[in-house]
Amino acid sequence: MSSDRTVRMQQLRVAVVGAGAAGLCAARHILSRPDNFAPPVVYELTEHVGGTWFYEERTGSYDNGLPIHSSMYRDLRTNLPKEVMMFPDFPFDPQLPSFLPHQEVQKYLERYCQSHCITPHIRFSAVVDEVSPVVTEGKGPMTTWEVTSRDKSGSQNTETFDSVFICSGHYSDPHIPSIPGLERFKGKVIHSHSYRHPEPFSGQSVVVLGAGASGLDISLELGRSNAQVTLSHGKPTLPFPLPYGVHQATPVEEIQEDGSLRFQDGSITQAQVLLLCTGYNFSYPFLEPARLGLEVQEHLVTPLYRSLMPPAFPSLFIIGICKIICPFPHFHCQVQFALAVLEGSVALPSQAEMEEEAQGEMARKVERGVQLRHMLKMDKEQWGYAQTLAQTGRFAPLPPVTQSLYEEVWRQRQVHPQNYRQVNYRLVSDTQWEEQELHAGE
Ligand code: FAD
Repeated sequence: MSSDRTVRMQQLRVAVVGAGAAGLCAARHILSRPDNFAPPVVYELTEHVGGTWFYEERTGSYDNGLPIHSSMYRDLRTNLPKEVMMFPDFPFDPQLPSFLPHQEVQKYLERYCQSHCITPHIRFSAVVDEVSPVVTEGKGPMTTWEVTSRDKSGSQNTETFDSVFICSGHYSDPHIPSIPGLERFKGKVIHSHSYRHPEPFSGQSVVVLGAGASGLDISLELGRSNAQVTLSHGKPTLPFPLPYGVHQATPVEEIQEDGSLRFQDGSITQAQVLLLCTGYNFSYPFLEPARLGLEVQEHLVTPLYRSLMPPAFPSLFIIGICKIICPFPHFHCQVQFALAVLEGSVALPSQAEMEEEAQGEMARKVERGVQLRHMLKMDKEQWGYAQTLAQTGRFAPLPPVTQSLYEEVWRQRQVHPQNYRQVNYRLVSDTQWEEQELHAGE
């Protein structure tokens, strides 16, 4: 920007890293404000849009040696109904059921991209290697950003922008927990990032580690495929019956000398496969966190003002870093807020005040007993957060029905993980929805 605190009258140039849902959302809103913004440059390391939602049968690396980005598995159906999952200004096809196979979300994102004429602004097969601030002294400190990217041929190019939106996702760098003796396990160890379908595990004994959304979902599909599944997790006993073939266990404490697994309650088992559904690390290899005043840890990035930007550089925005959110509506709010900041219609507090607010939030969470690795989980706080962004950024808030339907589905998922998707919802108004049970086979 011309100055970190003042607006410049000419169009701002924005770089967007990633053409997943967050990057497309950023591009769509930038393009809708031609008075203030030049068309964005969207860098995308793959040859397609969609990010997570583009299913890759391959695991490991792309032909260029970079690790496969998407963690999508073949039979995944969304865990949110399309009525709340959608960008609030762009509904899914009304003919579709509420809970969608991943292919439909990919088609939706492609349609979003086409409808908003984003494609011409995407550089495919362009990997961002470095994003660094350039601070110059004029009337005040002025920050621009140098973005260095690499194309298919390997040649590098550096361009200058007024602002950067980091939309590179955070479900790609597998988190491998430190289990004593893991190297002694004699079977196959894989992370859910590289899980695609259950058939290879049929008839095998599989210990699934972690009962988050993927751990539970994958355990159920492995169980249906005739694997003997032990779902090992640190949560209280799950409040619903698990299907035949799926048992619960306490966390794995150690892999013993003979390769067997010892659980926290002292029980021991042998297994052919250890499937780690243990989440992902935050990873921004193209940033130099210390230069930005940030600390990037496996499960935490601090300090971030409004869970969005480093107080020292409020023209860099990390979209969608929080977990336990309703992703697309959340991106929609963050992007509009960020653009309002760049346009100067949101007056930011001083750097020191932003730091104090971000650190104060963390301190309050620590006081409430929130562990460091859960700090960026928003859960119930997401609605107040989105509301505040909308009020401050002066754009339309999320309709109340997004929260009420999201919370209803969340409740159903806790008690009926196997059949909460057997229902269709219909939005009746901004505040109301109705449901319709599906019959077997629908
Ligand atoms: P991504 O989709 O990961 O996109 C990031 C993009 O950035 C990718 O295209 C990547 O190639 C690109 N990129 C990364 N690094 C670089 C670089 N250096 N240079 C250039 N490009 C780069 N959400 C829901 O709402 N409902 C669901 O049911 C649901 N299920 C999920 C199931 C799974 C298995 C996973 C992993 C996630 C699920 N999510 C779900 C959450 C999902 O991540 C979000 O919905 C959303 O797709 C995230 O979008 P994103 O743009 O932030 O990241």
